[in-house]
Amino acid sequence: MSEEIEKVKCLIIGSGPAGYTAAIYAARANMAPVLYQGMQPGGQLTTTNEVENFPGYQDGVTGPEMMMQLEAQAKRFDTDVRNGWVTKVDFSGPVHKVWIEDKKEIHADTIIISTGASARYLGLESEQKYLKAGGGVSACAVCDGFFYRGQETVIVGAGDSACEEAHYLSNICTKVTMLVRRDEFRASKIMAERVKNTANIEILFNTETEEVLGENDLVTGARVKNNVTGEIKEIPCTGFFVAIGHNPNTEIFKPYVNLDDAGYIEYAEPGTAKTNVEGVFVSGDAADKTYRQAITAAGTGCMAALEAERYLAAKGH
Ligand code: NDP
Repeated sequence: MSEEIEKVKCLIIGSGPAGYTAAIYAARANMAPVLYQGMQPGGQLTTTNEVENFPGYQDGVTGPEMMMQLEAQAKRFDTDVRNGWVTKVDFSGPVHKVWIEDKKEIHADTIIISTGASARYLGLESEQKYLKAGGGVSACAVCDGFFYRGQETVIVGAGDSACEEAHYLSNICTKVTMLVRRDEFRASKIMAERVKNTANIEILFNTETEEVLGENDLVTGARVKNNVTGEIKEIPCTGFFVAIGHNPNTEIFKPYVNLDDAGYIEYAEPGTAKTNVEGVFVSGDAADKTYRQAITAAGTGCMAALEAERYLAAKGH
């Protein structure tokens, strides 16, 4: 027998900085938000060690700690934070229908999508080992580059992100080695030129990672292979950055919400949090392939909640 349908004013999907900020604003506006945490409670920041660039934390904070504080702040204003994830939606009618783990059905007046994106990794066992140990593998140079100042780093990728991050690292690190799997960049010409013209960035084309090397949970280098000549060599580094793209977590919304070619949710009106579906708003990395920072996610979470509130007010709720 199916459970009774629950009706809520504001349903927030996702528990990163975007989702919790939306919850804080929605709760303080008496919208009684219900927030589903999703598969990775706390989102991408739970895989980060130290966060030093979120304003207000003078001495830095660990990613998991910051997410616990955001959760506590959202709960302080009576956000109903729940474990579980959304498996299906139906945004075809005036009522926004959502199913939790294919069972529980919720009807929401407004929805705030804050499902984020997941960084792609190479999938090597050694890469995952040092990532989990917090020992030198990262998918965000802007977040973690600072920890490798004055040291040598490696970055994998050849898109705009990899170029931007390699350039960022070059200002902090003594040397950056960029591993490009083909004989050319995917990045825009201007970004690729900037990397090529930076003295302390060495670009290795046709080069793939065989193994991330390390000792005692700390990265010490990378073993790489030239896929044309077969040459294998080891590059010393203390930081191994992966910048091979992100996957926005938007698949379930695809039938109703407009996505761009890469799967990111498109804003219906630039400078707002509106999607093409009335009453459905988006915040955070699910719609952001450019900045991807906790602070930008939090900012758009605030925008989404304020717009959801205005939407409800206009409907007379
Ligand atoms: P992209 O998908 O553009 O690039 C991913 C890169 O990673 C490609 O060069 C790809 O290689 C490489 N890659 C993928 N898998 C592997 C693998 N297993 N091993 C080695 N290399 C791999 O992702 P980005 O994150 O760079 O960019 C996403 C979007 O965001 C783009 O549209 C980009 O233009 C935009 N962007 C814009 C910025 C700006 O304008 N300032 C900044 C950042 C992003 P290959 O080329 O061989 O497929």
